[in-house]
Amino acid sequence: MSEAVLDKLDSLLDEAKSKITKAQDEKELEEVRHQILGKKGELTALLRNLGSIPQDKRPAVGKKANEIKLQIEQVLDDRLQKLSQSSLEIRLQNERIDYSLPGESLPSGRLHPISEVLREVKDIFRGMGFEVARGPEIETDYYNFEALNIPPDHPAREMWDSLYLDEKTLLRTHTSPVQIRVMEKRKPPLRVISAGKCYRRDAVDATHCFQFHQVEGFMVDEEVSFADLKGVLSTFARLVFGQDRQVKFVPSYFPFTEPSVEVYIDCFNCAQSSTGKCSLCGGEKWIEVLGAGMIHPFVLRVVDYPAHYSGFAFGVGIERIALLKYGINDIRLFYENDERFLRQF
Ligand SMILES: [Zn+2]
Repeated sequence: MSEAVLDKLDSLLDEAKSKITKAQDEKELEEVRHQILGKKGELTALLRNLGSIPQDKRPAVGKKANEIKLQIEQVLDDRLQKLSQSSLEIRLQNERIDYSLPGESLPSGRLHPISEVLREVKDIFRGMGFEVARGPEIETDYYNFEALNIPPDHPAREMWDSLYLDEKTLLRTHTSPVQIRVMEKRKPPLRVISAGKCYRRDAVDATHCFQFHQVEGFMVDEEVSFADLKGVLSTFARLVFGQDRQVKFVPSYFPFTEPSVEVYIDCFNCAQSSTGKCSLCGGEKWIEVLGAGMIHPFVLRVVDYPAHYSGFAFGVGIERIALLKYGINDIRLFYENDERFLRQF
């Protein structure tokens, strides 16, 4: 009886070896392992019958069975190693990287045209010795209007359709409040610009939006005159629109400056327009680029500056500069985030 079991063990080993060698991948090999060594496997079944062997033969048969089991496990492990080695080689072969292929290009971002113009304008004024100050977008009525010579019942408030948050606070309608905030804290000489978002209760159309960007600037010192205003703003206009631009100053009205002016440049588009009626200036030959003026004595009194100080102030609409600079006729294009438009800059 025991001889028969020993023979069976030998043939089981041979059979196992051949099955293991035939296994072509790790999954097949696992099936073979299960078939032989699993709970219902062939070797397990054989050992379960050990009870039918005479007692004195059992140790020899048991020892043999253990050796066979160890040998099978060894062969299984060797085969597993070989299979995983070759599957790795196959993968390496298939997934070999071809370094000569062109790489995938990553999309690169760029600055929004409004940011570009904003930076350019700031750089120009920095170049003329102006520093950059910041102020809150939520302003009080006092800084946005009253301190700038626009009392509550002043008809000039009609010029600024405002978005009030409550009775005394609003989204600033211009960057001019920063002028008051800086002058309250510091004494002249001062050359300061402040840039940022402003808000007005405007219906959105080709030239209006409820939100826009402005750069406000001012210069205060002893003996600052209208000639300084002309010099600084002409330089600015020529740096933005070209050195051969003509600049003219036309009387205007702002509550916080006296006298006030609008600054025009001669149209740079007229020469290109073949129809005779230029689309940029409408045939006027001149284009308005910004508003300015000598700071009103009321404003200088509000911040307690002595009477021998004088200054000028100006406000530049960034969207307007961008529209002119890039020859765009609709302000809404800047805010629609259409990449086909934005990629052109
Ligand atoms: Zn023109």
